[in-house]
Amino acid sequence: ALAASARDLVRTYGSGETAVTALAGVDLDVAAGRFTAIMGPSGSGKSTLMHCLAGLDTPTSGSVVVGGVELAGLDDTRLTLFRREHVGFVFQSFNLLPMLTAGQNIVLPLELAGTPVDRVWLDDVVGVLGIEDRMGHRPSELSGGQQQRVAVARALISRPDIVFADEPTGNLDSATSLEVLAFLRRSVRELGQSVVMVTHDADAAAHADEVVVIEDGRVA
Ligand code: ADP
Ligand code: ADP
Repeated sequence: ALAASARDLVRTYGSGETAVTALAGVDLDVAAGRFTAIMGPSGSGKSTLMHCLAGLDTPTSGSVVVGGVELAGLDDTRLTLFRREHVGFVFQSFNLLPMLTAGQNIVLPLELAGTPVDRVWLDDVVGVLGIEDRMGHRPSELSGGQQQRVAVARALISRPDIVFADEPTGNLDSATSLEVLAFLRRSVRELGQSVVMVTHDADAAAHADEVVVIEDGRVA
């Protein structure tokens, strides 16, 4: 498991009169091996914060440290390798590749890293998420909830040290949400992962060990 922290994190988009301040000085500590939920209203900066913590977006100023590594100190190549080795990400918009099947999307992080697929773990993940009969389908042939579960499986298949999940239950009915949340808890417990989840849903946040509230680009 890896810890993550942000210090005085600022992210502005654009410049001049139309500039938008998405993060206005966030200080945050995510403990290793814990399940942390980030809650807050729409537009409060949650997705931007997740992207900065995961090294997918570059903050305007401030510092992000993941597993003792200052992300700003890594060039693009090293950052990509660091993400590949340590970080899983569930995108709010899923980011599945349309030409690949669900199964191919799920194992893609392993193929990019040159890591063999652990079939037992793959079957376990896919079975727990209830998508085993959808492995040969392309994303366009899946419901939103199925795509979301494929995105969760893809983020967890490489057993990353830290997982960032942006609204991982946003498209799921309550029973399926509970299964995904139980799976995230289980991976925290069994794999010793750190999980950071953005959610609108107080019921989902209640499954986490810690809840952080973001308002107007700051920790409330
Ligand atoms: P949340 O995830 O809490 O809904 P976001 O991090 O997506 O919030 O957005 C925070 C603010 O930053 C919002 O005002 C949003 O419109 C703005 N924002 C996010 N991404 C961009 C972008 N790429 N360009 C311009 N503004 C953006
Ligand atoms: P949603 O509308 O589903 O809450 P997000 O706010 O997370 O989605 O934004 C989805 C994508 O759009 C992200 O890549 C984000 O950076 C981008 N985005 C969000 N707000 C803006 C904005 N005002 N201008 C440009 N891009 C934005």
